[in-house]
Amino acid sequence: MRIQQISAHYPNWQAVGGWRPRLWQIVVRVESDTGVVGYGYGGGGEASLPIVNGHFRELLMGRGLESVDDIAAIWDDLYFASIPYGRRGVGVMALSGVDLALWDLLGKATGRPVYDLLGGLARPQVRAYASGGDPEWFAQMGFTACKFSHKWTGDPAEYERDYDRAVASAEAARQHLGDEALVMADCYLSWDAAVAEEMGRRLAPYNLYWFEDILTPDLLAEQAAVRPRIKPVLLAGGEHEFTQYGFGEIARANALDIWQPDVTWCGGVTATLRIIELAKQNGARVVLHRGGEVWGLHIIAAGLCDNLGELVLGHRDASQENLWLGAPQAVDGHLAVSDAPGFGVQIDERRMG
Ligand SMILES: [Mg+2]
Repeated sequence: MRIQQISAHYPNWQAVGGWRPRLWQIVVRVESDTGVVGYGYGGGGEASLPIVNGHFRELLMGRGLESVDDIAAIWDDLYFASIPYGRRGVGVMALSGVDLALWDLLGKATGRPVYDLLGGLARPQVRAYASGGDPEWFAQMGFTACKFSHKWTGDPAEYERDYDRAVASAEAARQHLGDEALVMADCYLSWDAAVAEEMGRRLAPYNLYWFEDILTPDLLAEQAAVRPRIKPVLLAGGEHEFTQYGFGEIARANALDIWQPDVTWCGGVTATLRIIELAKQNGARVVLHRGGEVWGLHIIAAGLCDNLGELVLGHRDASQENLWLGAPQAVDGHLAVSDAPGFGVQIDERRMG
């Protein structure tokens, strides 16, 4: 088949609901000359639309697509062509949407789910973890893993209260999910090395699995220095890193125990597979950012990285996103990937924008 149409869209986020509008996700639609349509999820907001609708469309129109290798070749061509303005950030977020749409398209054209294109179903049940601040609710739903967020205020007068809030969150998670559960903390770039070390001491009784994003992604040497000082807690990060080249810097710095590429930002499935390969070579683990969403879920279900898929749920009263229809819901803390072709979801066209 050949690529006949390609377009990027910015959804009507007010109608979609949920917490996602601030993430600026975009939708990419690719149609083949055989009438098959694939959809992908990318990033970069309205800034990435002209990259897809202009430059990438010029490069893709009429291009043949028959195999996973063809998708990889397209990825390389688009990445190379966008080097002057891309490499990281919006350019790669736009490329992610295209890549995912091509995987969806190939799956639908061949009648195969994406996990099958990736080698087959290794995990019919993927363990999910809930991100948010409502561990009582998470426990009621049957989750055995959760992650709370903690923001360091930076206010010296709040110094002790900042630590106390983290301890209270860890305590609540253990109280509701029990001693065997995985409990993680995400500080979204708000700690520093000294805070991470002190958190390691104060949270030790709660046996946390990882600390996430303790510093900005540019401070790799600093993160490498912290790693041994917070053991046995693991250091996680990478949701704001891009492609196998960006993760190569993390590898060279030996900065993280757990890499967390976001499939819809880091360059799609194609880049994520290369990142996973690099992680293997460097002894790092990969736990996909938002991996409980279908874009990462197929990779986990194919058994290619750690068996842990994130669902960002927030609080029981928070509205949930409703852009993609047919996405698997967690049952007893696990997700069963759909065997429908492609990623197995349909977009709600009314919210497409
Ligand atoms: Mg995070």
